[in-house]
Amino acid sequence: MPYDLKQPIYLDYQATTPVDSRVLDAMLPYFSNIFGNAASKNHIYGQDAHRAVENAREVIGHSIRAKPQDICFTSGATEAINLAVKGTFFAHRSKTPHFITVITEHHALLDSMKRIESEGAKITYLPVDDQGILNIEKLKEAIRPETVLMSVMAANNEIGVIQPLLQIGHLCRERNIFLMTDATQALGKIPLDVQKMNIDLLACSAHKLYGPKGIGALYCRRSLPCVPIQPIIDGGGHERGLRSGTLNVPGIIGFAKAIEISIKEMKIENIRLLKMRNAMLLKLKKSLPNISLNGHPNLRLAGNLSICITGIDSEALLIALTNDVAISSGSACTTMSVEPSHVLKALGMADENVRSSIRIGLGRLTTEKEVDYASSRIIDEAIRLRNLR
Ligand SMILES: *Cc1c(COP(=O)(O)O)cnc(C)c1O
Repeated sequence: MPYDLKQPIYLDYQATTPVDSRVLDAMLPYFSNIFGNAASKNHIYGQDAHRAVENAREVIGHSIRAKPQDICFTSGATEAINLAVKGTFFAHRSKTPHFITVITEHHALLDSMKRIESEGAKITYLPVDDQGILNIEKLKEAIRPETVLMSVMAANNEIGVIQPLLQIGHLCRERNIFLMTDATQALGKIPLDVQKMNIDLLACSAHKLYGPKGIGALYCRRSLPCVPIQPIIDGGGHERGLRSGTLNVPGIIGFAKAIEISIKEMKIENIRLLKMRNAMLLKLKKSLPNISLNGHPNLRLAGNLSICITGIDSEALLIALTNDVAISSGSACTTMSVEPSHVLKALGMADENVRSSIRIGLGRLTTEKEVDYASSRIIDEAIRLRNLR
């Protein structure tokens, strides 16, 4: 290990990211000096907090070309997704509504769908092709007269694949159904425009883009065509009644700062990440025969490298790398179980190849030196494991 590398090297940026120091600086005053409750507008403390929150709302709304008043703060993307899916279901429950989604979605979405399914909703789960992309024709065929909502993620958390939201949004608007997107991995990494893409609901989270954990948002359009949704958390009527609970003011300030930085630096950062990712794949391929990339080669996030190293067990590789490189396997995605990834299986991969897959996530603090060292360690251990067979 070269002496100037922090150990183990963090290459799991799709799981979470460290808080950017500029974000932390922006947040700090809101823990102590400006600590007011943003709902206590009858004094200066509350007014200051309220003003800061509304500024942040504007920044966050602006970043996806939404109206600030259509941004509803939540505790993260999981809650935002639950609110969007269950809230839409509650608003349409008397009519046995039909929902459409995709089998490669995050568990927060799939499990919310399962929940409303058990309460009477009808759900269609669409497949993807072997590169992880949704087929628009299949979506067209799935739409029924009672379809209320189509939900598809903007970018996948395991394989980084980016869905054709522009086309999907166009179709949904034409067929008069609402489009929801889980943009947790996409926000700050690729351009998002809820107007151009006809997105009606959008979930996102601060900790995937160098902001703090425990804060996220749901964009829910209330101008025409208005998305009717009902709250799932009741109480003081915060967030226009959509999500009660005292606002996480420092979190919201950090979220806005994180988005602002990510969008400003997006272009340059994507070029930097892409260069490192391509170099890494090349290096791995050179020393390890039979490596394949999981998911579409180009329609993917710049920082995502999901690969299958044929003949190795990814869990064994991760254990061998514990002290040197922090990456993730094709299975460790749910906290409770070690099921083979539903996303990789959806690409039509054999179970054996799913078990040989790893996810490498490059990010803002990643350097060429780190990529170099991590590649060497992965190669050494993969060769050793292959020789053991
Ligand atoms: C991380 C993630 C979530 C969950 O976000 P939290 O804010 O941690 O609840 C949902 N969807 C995707 C695509 C994610 O990457």
